[in-house]
Amino acid sequence: MPSLRVLGGGREVGRAALLVEDRGKALLDYGVNFDEKDRPQIPLHVRPVELNLVAISHAHLDHIGAAPLLYITGRPRIFTTRPTLEIARLLVLDFLKLNSAYIDYEYSEFVKMSENAQFVDYGSEVEVDGFKLIFMNAGHILGSSMIYLETPSGHRILYTGDVNTIQTWTLSGAELWPLKVDTLIIESTYGSRIHPPRYRVEKRFVSVVEEVISGGGVVLIPSFSVGRSQEVLTILANELPYVDIYVDGMARDICGIYLQYQKYLRDPTLYTRALERVTFIKNARDRKKALSKPGVIIATAGMLKGGPSLQYLKKLADDPKNAVLLVSYQAPNSPGHKLLEEGKLEEVEVYFTKARLEWFDFSSHAGKDGLLDIAKSYSHTVRNIVVIHGDEESATGLAEAIKNTIGGDLNVVAPVNGDSITLD
Ligand SMILES: [Zn+2]
Ligand SMILES: [Zn+2]
Repeated sequence: MPSLRVLGGGREVGRAALLVEDRGKALLDYGVNFDEKDRPQIPLHVRPVELNLVAISHAHLDHIGAAPLLYITGRPRIFTTRPTLEIARLLVLDFLKLNSAYIDYEYSEFVKMSENAQFVDYGSEVEVDGFKLIFMNAGHILGSSMIYLETPSGHRILYTGDVNTIQTWTLSGAELWPLKVDTLIIESTYGSRIHPPRYRVEKRFVSVVEEVISGGGVVLIPSFSVGRSQEVLTILANELPYVDIYVDGMARDICGIYLQYQKYLRDPTLYTRALERVTFIKNARDRKKALSKPGVIIATAGMLKGGPSLQYLKKLADDPKNAVLLVSYQAPNSPGHKLLEEGKLEEVEVYFTKARLEWFDFSSHAGKDGLLDIAKSYSHTVRNIVVIHGDEESATGLAEAIKNTIGGDLNVVAPVNGDSITLD
């Protein structure tokens, strides 16, 4: 009987890792998580030599950050999209800079992993030792995929990875192919929350930016380097074509990868044209220029944990003409969260913020309604639904909502790490 073992991501947002066993072993994602002290935590152990394949849904570290560990002693074949590995390379390099004391692999293991990678395009089918794999657009970040996995005995699994069902400026929404699925493994980051309609968020965001600039201020947008920065610059370049847009930090390199793999974008021309309007900040002189007149600065890190966004904050915080617009998720213990709550960040000498402060919900994860739509799309054949990648409340809340919506004798579980689920 096929089984699914949850090695990570059980009632937690992070370190996604799922082991499917059925006349062989297939590993779906192998990511890291971070504890309260920001130290990396890895998923439960798996023996690399026993793996027939590893499939990676997307480049975020909570899905790929522990995978290089598998290449210390093994050489499992790994399947993913090209942009996933390209983006992951930058994220892993950055991760190792900060965490080399806490993690057992080095960049050379990432290189070994890349040498064992086989790239897949959306929609093409791959066969490995009796397992069948199909990757489909998940709408989350560039190259992100939902993964269809058919086991050697014919059990059909769909793993959503991180998924967004709505269309954004840069990406199409997730492709919900009409597949027959026996087991659905679904993320639940926002399993108990509904996002406001995106058009409304965008409208307000654009009008705030416009207001600040016409009042002679500078708008700082601390932003995640992957996805959010590219989305925000595309919106602003199109909606406010007269405004100067600057991009600083790791987002610059990621903008280049988005350009290189533009076939994964919803509308490559829209993005390419937007990018032509952007100035990439390369040195102190550029930085000074960006701060000297009204305009928008998009800079990493998105939660103000470091990087150029923090430096800009110090320079801009005390002028009421300016604004700091947060567009990324703000973890409860993050500086960005603290700034929103208390209006100051003493630890970096921002004691008093006169600049306008606001947060916008540009999430790249489906809300509860979108996740339920996914579950409903596969309800005609699905027998098991496994809810992962959400905190206790979100995972159990979504499991409950799915049971109430679809009903029948469906097996819906929100497992914890270490749980094994028999798939029948
Ligand atoms: Zn993600
Ligand atoms: Zn994730």
